[in-house]
Parts: sequence; structure tokens; C-alpha cells
Amino acid sequence: MAHPITIDTLPGAGRSATHLVQCGPANWVMLQDGDDLTLIDGGYPGNADDVEESIARIGRSMGDVQGALLTHAHVDHLGGLAIVAKRHGFSIYLDEIEAAHARGDVDEQISPVGICRLLPRRGTLPWLATVVRLGALGHQHVADPVTFAGDQPLDLPGAPKPVATHGHTDGHSSFLAADGEILISGDALITAHPTSSRGTGPQLLPDPFHHDAAAAHAALTNFSSLDATVLIPGHGPIHRGSVAAAIAQL
Ligand SMILES: [Zn+2]
Repeated sequence: MAHPITIDTLPGAGRSATHLVQCGPANWVMLQDGDDLTLIDGGYPGNADDVEESIARIGRSMGDVQGALLTHAHVDHLGGLAIVAKRHGFSIYLDEIEAAHARGDVDEQISPVGICRLLPRRGTLPWLATVVRLGALGHQHVADPVTFAGDQPLDLPGAPKPVATHGHTDGHSSFLAADGEILISGDALITAHPTSSRGTGPQLLPDPFHHDAAAAHAALTNFSSLDATVLIPGHGPIHRGSVAAAIAQL
């Protein structure tokens, strides 16, 4: 079933661009270099068709996807991506520490106890109903991910540069794009969430979502020295302004 999507396109140098797709509670990103694409994350399992639709909307086809990056293996980022990657036969790149999570050897999803801690929040029940319909209880895995370590730019369209942000999950990774101008932060830093009472703006997810909340808080220091002036988060809208300044305020 198709869901409404909105796409924000940030043009870069030449025929390059960064596209943020927002689809209900999920975000994903496309880095475009000429005709070629790198996909970053892909929503819930129920978003697989929406990922394909988003690529058609920017005038490209699935054959243009040269590979995909995964910020982390939670179901709202891996679910749709794993299905689309299997359908079209492209590789999924992720931090080597995240590989066990992506293969399903370990489980770092929010626990039932964590969900219970969120229940007093006003947005939690409607959010739960939505994500269960999108396949949040289903399991998607990546049997043979391509792993990376360190911060060297990857050989994919847009030359994304990993920024290790371990904590939300053990091997969570963010990525710099557009020569460091844009930070794609995944769930290390978000700008809105249905269960958050903080409105819109750079913020951390509520602690029950983090596999290791203390490490997730500490990982923000890895953003403090960045020159990025645009934040594309795993949840919420684009934030324009110095990422380092936003971290200092947090
Ligand atoms: Zn998420």
C-alpha cells in the first residue's frame, strides 16, 4: 500500500543533489550524482513500495541505485531497505560493528519495558498503531552487508563520509554529504518524533529508544567539530544552521 511522501531536494554542485524523503514516521535519503544514486535507510517493511516510488518521483529508476547505506539496523530504517535491496540486487553498506545487528545475531530494538516507559507520553499510542501497521513487529535482516570502519569517504555516489555515532545502536553511523555541508544524522540526532514533547528542532530521541543511552548522549560530541550547516535527521524535518552550534545548545 502506498503512503504519502514528501521530498525535499537540496541541489549540490553540478548534477548532484541530496533528497530527504519523509513518509509518515520514517525518513530516508537519496544522494544523487548525475544519474547515479546512493540510498540511505528505507523506512519500515511497509515502506518498500514507497522507497521505489520516491526514486521514480525524482526521475530516476531502481537501476540507478549503486548501493545503499544503513545508519543502523532498527526496523524503521532497515525494514523497507532490506526488501528493496533484495528485489533489485544492490548492496547495503554499514559500520562493521552494526553487522551483527543487521544480520539478526543480536537484538537492539526498543524493549517492551522501554515501550511501557513511553506510554505516558501523549503521542505514543497513535505512533504505536501506525508503526505496527507498517510492519514494526516484522524482522528484516541483511545476510551479507558490506562493512566499513573509520571515516574515509565511501566509493558510492555522493562520496558519503561516515561519522561514527555509536550508542543509539552499538554500530550506529551518521554520514556527511555534499563535501561536509550536510550531516545525515540517522537517529543520533533528530528534529522531531511523535513521542517527543520537545516540538521541532535538533534533539535526542527519548532515552528508551537508545540501546545505550549514555553512549548515545556522548556520541553527540562527534558532531561538535563538524562544519555542516544542514541537518537531515532520521526523524523530523531538515534543520538549517550550524550543526556544531546546535550541539553546543543541547
Ligand atoms: Zn528511527
